[in-house]
Amino acid sequence: MNKNLLVKCPTCQKEIPYHHDNPFRPFCSERCKLIDLGAWAAEEHVISEPCYTEELLEELDLTAEETTHLH
Ligand SMILES: [Zn+2]
Repeated sequence: MNKNLLVKCPTCQKEIPYHHDNPFRPFCSERCKLIDLGAWAAEEHVISEPCYTEELLEELDLTAEETTHLH
């Protein structure tokens, strides 16, 4: 039995025992968990910023059409 399964905290890379008593697993602490959640929220915020303009979407449509005409 391997009771001391170690996992790396995704935030600080510290090795911690993956134990069901650890409410923050796979993080080492609440702090690291919150940091990770914050990072996700930040990424989502960036994605939600519209970088697809209507023009760009039309361009993609035209490209798809051109490809179809070739066949
Ligand atoms: Zn950590």
